[in-house]
Amino acid sequence: MNGIASAYQSLKDVFGFEGFRGRQEDVLTRVLAGDSTLAVMPTGAGKSLTYQLPAVMLAGTCVVISPLIALMHDQLRSARANGIRAATLTSADADWRETQDAFRAGELDLLYVAPERASQPAFRDFLSAAPLCLFAIDEAHCVSEWGHDFRPDYRMLRGLMDAFPQVPRLALTATADRQTRADVMAQLRIPEDGLVLAGFDRPNIHYAIRHRDNPVRQLTNLMAGESGPGIVYAQTRRKVEDLAEKLAAATGRPVRPYHAGLDPATRAANQAAFVASEDMVIVATVAFGMGIDKPDVRFVAHVGVPKSIEAYYQETGRAGRDGDPSQAVMFWGAGDFATARQRLAEVEEPRRNAERARLDALAGLVETAECRRAVLLRHFGEEPPGHCGNCDNCLEPAGVTDATELARKLLSAVYRTGQSFGMGHLQKVLTGSEDERVRQRGHDRLSVFGIVEPDEARLLQPLSRALQARGDLVATEHGGLALGGSARAILKGESAVQIVVPPRRQRTRRGDATPNPVGDPLFDALRALRKELAEEAQVPPYVIFHDSTLREMALARPTTLAQLGLLPGIGAKKLEAYGERFLRAIDQH
Ligand code: ADP
Ligand code: ZN
Repeated sequence: MNGIASAYQSLKDVFGFEGFRGRQEDVLTRVLAGDSTLAVMPTGAGKSLTYQLPAVMLAGTCVVISPLIALMHDQLRSARANGIRAATLTSADADWRETQDAFRAGELDLLYVAPERASQPAFRDFLSAAPLCLFAIDEAHCVSEWGHDFRPDYRMLRGLMDAFPQVPRLALTATADRQTRADVMAQLRIPEDGLVLAGFDRPNIHYAIRHRDNPVRQLTNLMAGESGPGIVYAQTRRKVEDLAEKLAAATGRPVRPYHAGLDPATRAANQAAFVASEDMVIVATVAFGMGIDKPDVRFVAHVGVPKSIEAYYQETGRAGRDGDPSQAVMFWGAGDFATARQRLAEVEEPRRNAERARLDALAGLVETAECRRAVLLRHFGEEPPGHCGNCDNCLEPAGVTDATELARKLLSAVYRTGQSFGMGHLQKVLTGSEDERVRQRGHDRLSVFGIVEPDEARLLQPLSRALQARGDLVATEHGGLALGGSARAILKGESAVQIVVPPRRQRTRRGDATPNPVGDPLFDALRALRKELAEEAQVPPYVIFHDSTLREMALARPTTLAQLGLLPGIGAKKLEAYGERFLRAIDQH
């Protein structure tokens, strides 16, 4: 029978996995029972398995609605590598006839299409020709006008699905708040008990947020401890180009740029090279990453603050989908917030409040001395433990200092100098520096001249960053600072200011971030073989086997196909295709 017991058997046979992760089993139980479901699971939780497995187990084809051709082709490769009969119908495919024939003959497990095609009447007629087992709707938040990425084509899917009332629906997304979830379920007629909401935690990702002093040096250090693939997000095309060039020169690693200004061919080539690579770093604007399904990204670095906590979590979520230890590092500067807050003025009112709230939440994240993961998960409505043990604040606790008095001094200096000078000048005034410009402006005669003691002065920079992050200090058009937010309340003594003092020595993370036994001759040989097979098959190495599978092989040293087949990530199809060659490699080392 098609119960969950036989799902375990298929899981082992097809994917070579021993067990389900997170809420996969709950989703599968519903799908196999024919119940429509909305699965909200974070990136990397293994959403695709929840429809690929039923597609193999159940009679009839599973139709997958997916918004991006690149994503579909990625999925297609991985599915086929596991021996699943999958096909896509997109404008980029030349094998339409074969695909249509295979579907009509009942020989397709999975059929991927884009929503604009799926919602056409002709497609509905085509689907009536053979039995279906499931509609899987990927990126299902696009169905809802409440979601951050509404697409009208998604709304039209309802007509298609209503034409096949007996076929269950599985909607999948990584990002949907309460309102969006309710809307998706109503639109797709998913019953109220059909929601499976997985935890948002990504325990294998280490979070660190640092002040940016020298991004090239900071990234070079990060890359020195991390030899695997990485994504660096920068905010403008110019910064992308500049960083890519400097990082390549400083590290000798393959580094490529990605942004909307590159010609499409170069952009596609850089993306493909990154997906296939085991050590490349791609420096990109946030346009990069959507639709990329590379499981072995070992770090995601942000140079500059992201747009919101949601965007941050989605972007950092591209690290470590394979479950191996990975890092998310943000290098932020006070100016990032200052310019973002300046831009708020141009936003129209109902939206401006929401935008301001987004910035405040981000400021809270970068400025916190608490566990970063706890702050993130609480933002998504969870109740996490207060200490995760895998973020910068847990591993190197930062101190918190009351800086209310110093903040009053700084803010009055801003006020008395006319709200038009930058931090450099303000520091000189406050510390009583003998400076030509200070004297010329008459700022040496102000009551705030020299009121900050030398030992307090080292807190001025972190304080100014904190005040800018919170919006109590805002940038003027000419690069000066002006009062904003709660500045007046602080000046009047109605509001206190606590700031985080970073630990004195900022150790970069130890070189043990990647557990791969690089340098072990057997592991290296297995990797080389994987690369060779990947090139032969023209797929990225991880489609052959994940790093974790190679590690297990190097450790267990199986000598027979039967032993090899017991290792995680080796299903029947891959055992047959690659087993002998890996056994030979193990035997020779
Ligand atoms: P999502 O679509 O939710 O971002 P994917 O479906 O791409 O995640 O899965 C992420 C990775 O996790 C894939 O490389 C997949 O092979 C792996 N994976 C999924 N389910 C399991 C499982 N039960 N055991 C081990 N690995 C799994
Ligand atoms: Zn923590």
